[in-house]
Amino acid sequence: MRSLLAASAASAFVRSSASPLRPPLFALPFRPQLSSTRFCAARPVSAAAAKSRGGGAGCSEMEDRAVHSGEIHVIVGPMFAGKTTALLRRVQAEADTGRTLALIKSDKDNRYGLDSVVTHDGTKMACWALPELSSFQDKLGAEAYNKVDVIGIDEAQFFDDLRDFCCKAADRDGKIVIVAGLDGDYKRNKFGSVLDIIPLADSVTKLTARCELCGRRAFFTLRKTGDTKTELIGGADVYMPVCRQHYLDGQIVIEATRIVLDLERSTVTSDVK
Ligand SMILES: [Zn+2]
Repeated sequence: MRSLLAASAASAFVRSSASPLRPPLFALPFRPQLSSTRFCAARPVSAAAAKSRGGGAGCSEMEDRAVHSGEIHVIVGPMFAGKTTALLRRVQAEADTGRTLALIKSDKDNRYGLDSVVTHDGTKMACWALPELSSFQDKLGAEAYNKVDVIGIDEAQFFDDLRDFCCKAADRDGKIVIVAGLDGDYKRNKFGSVLDIIPLADSVTKLTARCELCGRRAFFTLRKTGDTKTELIGGADVYMPVCRQHYLDGQIVIEATRIVLDLERSTVTSDVK
């Protein structure tokens, strides 16, 4: 995982260095402390945020050019890969530099309550739990929305309007949007709209978990139950991270179990008749 993150940070550095206006900001949370002057001159901020912080005469021209230039960073991976932990670390790093942040999660996931984002190891941060992202600006109010520099979105696979929201927030409103979510469902098909924002993203980080069966790197989420609906909210009771081999083995076991259960069911039915 560390090497993946390092690779991501390195590629972000290369991309950012192509523009004289962009120091390696994308490498969060690994970037060094920025001085306030450099921060002011280089970072893209929302118009209101720039205004409210008195951008400074020396950097106003550059800010004007950068003011609508937001960023989108995407963190994907299977369940238990530390996506929420990475998200919280990144938004906290942004907050530490003085940026104003807002955190959003889907109201479909109420495993840990609706007022905070919570990692599997118990770290938590206050959030907005919403049915769709388009309601965020109304909930927050226009004035408060304008002051937000950074928007973190957890469990992004549950938001159907993810692409539209990210476009608007980053392209039009100059926000830094950091998105964490499942890239694939338990069938390894794309989940929600997370993959649709990859073409919009400044950086993409794919995290891995540990296979619950062999300890190797896990890329996939195996559903342990026979439930077949795509959105089944659950934790370790329902899902486990697995490597490729154990994902395939798991599918065979699940399919064999289904056949046995179907056979038993049909036997019971014919006995009753
Ligand atoms: Zn394995």
